[in-house]
Amino acid sequence: MKKNIKDYNLDELKNLMIELGEKPYRAEQIFKWIFVENVTSFDDMTNLSLELREKLKDNFDLHIFKILQKQESKDGTKKYLFDVLDGNAIESVLMEYKHGFTICVSSQIGCKMGCKFCASTGVKFARSLTSGEIVEQLLAVQRDQNIKISNLVFMGIGEPLDNYDNVVNAIHILNNQKGINMGARHISISTSGLVPKIYKLADENMQCTLSISLHSANDKKRSEMMPVNNTYNIEELIKACKYYIEKTNKRISFEYALAKDNNDNLGDAKELVKLLKGMLCHVNLIPINKIENGNYSKSTNENILKFRDYLNEKGIVATIRRELGSDIDAACGQLRKKEVEKC
Ligand code: SAH
Repeated sequence: MKKNIKDYNLDELKNLMIELGEKPYRAEQIFKWIFVENVTSFDDMTNLSLELREKLKDNFDLHIFKILQKQESKDGTKKYLFDVLDGNAIESVLMEYKHGFTICVSSQIGCKMGCKFCASTGVKFARSLTSGEIVEQLLAVQRDQNIKISNLVFMGIGEPLDNYDNVVNAIHILNNQKGINMGARHISISTSGLVPKIYKLADENMQCTLSISLHSANDKKRSEMMPVNNTYNIEELIKACKYYIEKTNKRISFEYALAKDNNDNLGDAKELVKLLKGMLCHVNLIPINKIENGNYSKSTNENILKFRDYLNEKGIVATIRRELGSDIDAACGQLRKKEVEKC
């Protein structure tokens, strides 16, 4: 397969132009055609010489995803199933909020983390997505809907920090003012807690929002839900989060999916308060979404509200995440990779 030109950030494109014997300013023109004009063919890049267009066609591909399926929820959320052109398919979700459109992107085809309550666990890991494939999810939805997406969250299939370099390169591409121009403040990375990569991300100086899938303040319970806790326990995780806050001055968002009779009682809330007291953070409570063959079920509304109120009373800002797209399995933890032939 030809190389995906969307994998190149602007500096890399400039070097490429030099290698191809072209003037470096051509890179900016190409970058704009790809990421602003969102063209689907090199032929559309009309300010390039015919010769350069041919060179690009011979060596590169624009890697345009094919939409295999599109589902729309009652609340307007849309879930896309994309053919990533190698026999695999991934899902991305478009949500509309008052402040604009947010896309939830996948970072890998399948996931290795093994969280017990997440649908992405049920399928074998195939590979990580390239940075171009991460950005193409946004471009493909923008083309299909004829909209401009203002926010992006790495909360689809996969563990973004297990695909560190491509995720960071995708963010550089998204940030570039000559292209999509999405500020880092509009991008959130959600991680199950790969501690060494949290330190690395803090040192990038990028101003992205970091979300931590915490789900329990108790090591025993968290390890049962999330095997990653056996490698990096809660103490190590919180230490890394404090480093992230210190370096970026940004508030961390802790995600906590409430599962009935598991992590949703007052004792759990007390442990959480003890753990997070004094930290620059926010707790995002997610009513857990039921997945096929999953053992966890949603807490009662009463417990969810009690949990939130307790945290707020103790000075920890907590909100309940709106459940978007659950009727089409597009809500948190409901995305899974698929193989193209089965669709
Ligand atoms: N691997 C990353 C990002 C993907 S999951 C991570 O673990 O953070 C995005 C969010 O959905 C995470 O907070 C995850 O814990 C949560 N999630 C997974 N399964 C869920 C479920 N069944 N119900 C509610 N939230 C879930």
